[in-house]
Amino acid sequence: MTDRARRDRADLHCHTTCSDGGLTPAELVAAARAAGLETIAITDHDTLAGIPPARAAAGSAQAALEVVAGVELSCRAGGRELHLLGLYVDVECAALHALTDANRRARETRVEQLIERARRLRLGLTREQVERHAEGAPIGRPHVAAALVGAGVVGDAQEAFARFLGVGRPLYVPRPLPAVIDAIAAVHAAGGVAVVAHPGSSRVRDTLLNDLARSGLDGIEVRHPKHGRQRERILLEHCRRLGLLPSGGSDFHGPGRGDARLGDIRVPVAWAAALRRRAEHHRRRGRP
Ligand code: AMP
Ligand code: FE
Ligand code: FE
Ligand code: ZN
Repeated sequence: MTDRARRDRADLHCHTTCSDGGLTPAELVAAARAAGLETIAITDHDTLAGIPPARAAAGSAQAALEVVAGVELSCRAGGRELHLLGLYVDVECAALHALTDANRRARETRVEQLIERARRLRLGLTREQVERHAEGAPIGRPHVAAALVGAGVVGDAQEAFARFLGVGRPLYVPRPLPAVIDAIAAVHAAGGVAVVAHPGSSRVRDTLLNDLARSGLDGIEVRHPKHGRQRERILLEHCRRLGLLPSGGSDFHGPGRGDARLGDIRVPVAWAAALRRRAEHHRRRGRP
């Protein structure tokens, strides 16, 4: 094993079937252990439902695996959608639940409008088909993509996004999103740290990073499957410049899905520890 593989045993960005991932929380825990990870953060879209079952699974096995309570919040900044990770959050915080509940309601309204558009396009897509893929999770475009594949409208999910679901395509329906400052406030109310997710793939500008840092952002996801080495170096430099902490992870969505397999993108456990200390520091001081 290389020094790097020994040191890098954390993955701070993973999805489960509680949002649009392919593995259940318990399966994710087993896969993380098999990949030699020590720490994983469960960061489902707009829900915290995966944390308790993952913790139950992690606690019942011999090898220690730390499950960090996380969430990936959809929000808006500068007129665009931005993903904010909350890490080390209290899963019972009412303010955080109010925000995830609102986002889930907006997803429900969006899918209704989307189904109506699909009806007008005579795609033969039903709400029931989409719900079968979501299995109770907050409905995301990946569930709609799976339903379109299932209905034989497209060959695969990639085609579904390219032809129908991507921004500006016929089934793209924008949904109201909370302002990023409100998302940061909710993460802080829950005693967590707020980290901007994949700024490379969301094309977050330097000026926005400066604004977010002033708004109380704690960290930047510098390592991500969509970030090359050069991007990671630049983002690390922004961390130093702005006094923010680095984070990173695989954004794993299940075997055969997305850009990375579990264990492919790892970060030092020291990065996780620093984020945890920052969360604890905030909690001790009491937030403004
Ligand atoms: P939503 O939050 O429902 O708008 O869906 C966004 C999610 O769709 C992202 O978090 C990704 O998991 C997935 N996604 C976005 N673009 C693509 C794409 N081009 N191909 C496959 N999945 C995508
Ligand atoms: Fe996703
Ligand atoms: Fe994301
Ligand atoms: Zn994600």
